[in-house]
Amino acid sequence: MDPVIVIGAGIAGIAAARTIGAAGLPVVVLERGRNVGGRMAVRTTGERVVDIGASYFTVSDPRFEAVVQDWQRSGLARPWTDTFHLFDAARLSTKSGPMRWSAPTGLRSLVADLAVGVEVRCQQVATVAPGLRVDQLPTAAVVLAMPDPQARRLLHPEFAALAAELDDDFEPALALVAAWSRQCWNEVDGVFVSDDPTLTWVADDGRRRGDQAPVLVAHSTPNFANEHLAEPVQGTGAMLAALQRVLDIDEPPVSTSVHRWSFAHPASTRTSTYLLTEAMVGVCGDAWSNRPRVEAAYLSGVELGEAIADRLG
Ligand SMILES: Cc1cc2nc3c(=O)[nH]c(=O)nc-3n(C[C@H](O)[C@H](O)[C@H](O)COP(=O)(O)OP(=O)(O)OC[C@H]3O[C@@H](n4cnc5c(N)ncnc54)[C@H](O)[C@@H]3O)c2cc1C
Repeated sequence: MDPVIVIGAGIAGIAAARTIGAAGLPVVVLERGRNVGGRMAVRTTGERVVDIGASYFTVSDPRFEAVVQDWQRSGLARPWTDTFHLFDAARLSTKSGPMRWSAPTGLRSLVADLAVGVEVRCQQVATVAPGLRVDQLPTAAVVLAMPDPQARRLLHPEFAALAAELDDDFEPALALVAAWSRQCWNEVDGVFVSDDPTLTWVADDGRRRGDQAPVLVAHSTPNFANEHLAEPVQGTGAMLAALQRVLDIDEPPVSTSVHRWSFAHPASTRTSTYLLTEAMVGVCGDAWSNRPRVEAAYLSGVELGEAIADRLG
């Protein structure tokens, strides 16, 4: 039997591949980047990692909870906080919510853990064609585990009907990482920034990581990102100024860097958790959820994997 080909080694693609593999079917993951993880990405400076994509994750479904408990037992994930701050009308207040989980060595390490035993090849896929072929490789089924705009452009014109269903254009974001020589702001874990033209969110990465390093990560609004997508670094000044205003910081950082996410978040939600056509082309990821998040992407991958295993089994 030809293997199932999963395109994309984010948490959804890896969850799908594990599920298909666990059903005894041959499966291979093709990933264009050098690492697994997708939007659960880190940047490494020296020995230290910083989460530059997803900031944390929450847990509500027992299937995901079981995986998270394994991560906690092995020290890969830890409960971070249930209390963030809110910056609104130039004031900070606290806001409680569900437990947010972080990963001491970065969220990407969690996807790497799920990928143990899964064959992942570094390959940028160009076309999914009828037959069924992925860049000429014959396959029993294909999984597109990525944002809609990235999935749409892989589909051969004969899959026009499917392409038309992948209509979520996703919103962009910029992530600013700024490091200081010492902590010069009052203690916060994270801050939701309300009604600001530049920022939506700030995380204290030292507290998130547990090493107390004086490093902050700020995420931009979609509009701000759209204005700076071509030259993200030109957004540094405005993002830094907004960050310093939110946390009342008057010292300059010792270093900054900006990361561009062209497809950061789905712009809308869906009620179905995956899509699988008669031709055995499946789509999964965080856009297949009414709460697009890490947990939803994982569950979407698992459910599509089960559906493919059912049909092929
Ligand atoms: C800035 C930011 C902040 C976020 N904050 C949070 C948060 O705090 N909490 C939370 O729960 N979620 C958060 N998220 C969302 C979370 O990261 C996603 O929901 C989740 O990681 C999506 O996983 P995925 O597997 O669906 O997609 P992705 O992680 O995007 O994986 C898709 C993979 O497909 C690969 N790929 C694409 N095209 C090709 C191709 N042609 N060939 C081969 N490979 C390809 C990509 O390289 C990528 O690895 C955030 C995301 C961003 C960007």
